[in-house]
Amino acid sequence: MKTIDIIVPCFNEQEVLETFYTETSKVIDAIDGYSFRFLLVDDGSRDNTIIIMKQLAKEHDNVKYLSFSRNFGKEAGIYAGLKYSSGDYVILMDADLQHPPAMIPDMIAGIEEGYDCCAARRVSREGESKIRSWFSQMYYKISNRMTDVEMPQNAVDYRIMSRSMVDSILDLSEVERFSKGIFAWVGFSTKWIPYENVERTMGTTKWSFWGLFKYALSGITSFSIAPLRMVSGMGFVIFAFACLYSLLTVIKTLIFGIDVPGYVTTLCAVLFLGGIIELSIGIIGEYVAHIYMEAKDRPIFILRQTNLDIPKED
Ligand code: UDP
Ligand code: MG
Repeated sequence: MKTIDIIVPCFNEQEVLETFYTETSKVIDAIDGYSFRFLLVDDGSRDNTIIIMKQLAKEHDNVKYLSFSRNFGKEAGIYAGLKYSSGDYVILMDADLQHPPAMIPDMIAGIEEGYDCCAARRVSREGESKIRSWFSQMYYKISNRMTDVEMPQNAVDYRIMSRSMVDSILDLSEVERFSKGIFAWVGFSTKWIPYENVERTMGTTKWSFWGLFKYALSGITSFSIAPLRMVSGMGFVIFAFACLYSLLTVIKTLIFGIDVPGYVTTLCAVLFLGGIIELSIGIIGEYVAHIYMEAKDRPIFILRQTNLDIPKED
């Protein structure tokens, strides 16, 4: 019998966790030929999430939990789940039931067709603000242009993956993880299953606009050096322009004599160049920050407690 691990990153999900478990169990209990195991990852929740996890684990043998020492972010939760998974297939899904469990049979069917991965893709963004949808759309356009990896728009982190794909993802040991990019980067064949957006009915979203913005920016700088190229390109264009302008000024001065220097022109040039230099330093700074974070090589998460048998870290 093939085994499937269901990884669920949870941060302050006390309102939904039990419902999530019952709803998902209903679906998987009806699937024959596979044995399922839940890997619930408590990402340093400050509510009773861990207590509910322990309760579920006590009542059901197929529930395992991993609890972090603090909130490390959803990406860390995904990574930990993948790391401690052992199933032939691995399913990633959110705890808030925005990822319909009813899709699991289709996903399994997809991967049994021979795909390495079967992932969900929203066909509507109903229930989401217009501005957010627009930003998201622009983001994917820009990001797909700048990076080598093609991230499909409206893809969500709800997917089933083969063991070999999971192992490849774990080989990418970077600390600042951007899963959407990583999934695309490792390749493998993916089948997309469309679904209608489901609104969160219980609990609250953990994303602020600013949080999403920072995440999106780090997504680009993690997978592309195009912004750095842009800085060199800008420098080159400005340098060429400066050469031409100097030459013209010299010639003009030789022919017409010394002109009274223009105050406005000087001010504009100084401000313009100052702005460009600041921007360039900022862009380079983003990459330096990445190098800094990666060079420290800190663990992606710290485990506080678990009911999994884990050999002591090597
Ligand atoms: N999550 C997490 N750590 C965090 C933030 C979120 O593990 O720091 C989990 C959360 O519990 C949920 C999933 O990631 O299971 C998606 O979060 P959310 O529903 O808030 O995001 P959205 O659906 O709004 O993108
Ligand atoms: Mg959600």
